[in-house]
Amino acid sequence: MQFKGKTAVITGSSRGLGRAIAEKLGKLGANVVLTGTSDTVLKTASELEEMGIKVAVVVGDVRNADDVKAMMAKAVESFGGVDILVNNAGITKDKPMAMMSEDDWDTVLDINLKGCFLCTKAAAKLMIKKRYGRIINVSSVAGAYGNPGQANYSASKGGMLGLTKTAAKELAPRGITCNAVTPGLIESDMTEILPEDLKRKYLEKIALGRFGTPEDVANVVAFLASDEAGYVTGQVIDIDGGLVM
Ligand code: NDP
Repeated sequence: MQFKGKTAVITGSSRGLGRAIAEKLGKLGANVVLTGTSDTVLKTASELEEMGIKVAVVVGDVRNADDVKAMMAKAVESFGGVDILVNNAGITKDKPMAMMSEDDWDTVLDINLKGCFLCTKAAAKLMIKKRYGRIINVSSVAGAYGNPGQANYSASKGGMLGLTKTAAKELAPRGITCNAVTPGLIESDMTEILPEDLKRKYLEKIALGRFGTPEDVANVVAFLASDEAGYVTGQVIDIDGGLVM
């Protein structure tokens, strides 16, 4: 796989999975547009630049349509367009449903699902002109199978799967594919905070006997973003070490 001359916008790429995806695509030759909500993304951008990766960076919120426009505009201004969009930005606000506030619900749905919609819409507009595009949505096994304490998160990630298949159907005639990955338990800031006994419980269920790494996810995303995956669209790939089968 090689991405020379291709430009990838990766949302939420200051750290964790998004950062690993940006690094993977960048090392394979892509120009990468990094986004995050805080200055952390600026530090990540300089670290990737030191590796010889061509980087542009936007501090912005995927919930905000103007910020999303700025992300795509940056890609156009810096590299001439958008070929690949990875909708990776996401958060959790876990609680049993009875304790979950409307704000917990709205915030998670807005960032994880509305953000994915806004970015897909804005990137697709550019991709349609090129008659080429790869959109990869980072959902979760929780979206496909549900998870106690994650009503808001599971709903947002399940919504992403419906959005993936709709985008795949709408955009296929324009040469654009759209697929989703559903990671299981991956080592990152998001899972670092989980209680040890819960982590142990998950570990017992993972066939491959270990948590995933951000690189495990980046490898699959890179394939879906490549020319080689041109006949794959509307699909959902579990990256969970055999947690659910
Ligand atoms: P992290 O918490 O490590 O990183 C989250 C990223 O999203 C950060 O770059 C953060 O930016 C960015 N972000 C958060 N809110 C917004 C926002 N409103 N607008 C733009 N960017 C935002 O998470 P992970 O790397 O673990 O997760 C990445 C994705 O993978 C998420 O969608 C998550 O749901 C999904 N996933 C993760 C799994 C795991 O086990 N880790 C399992 C399944 C799915 P900033 O640094 O500025 O806050």
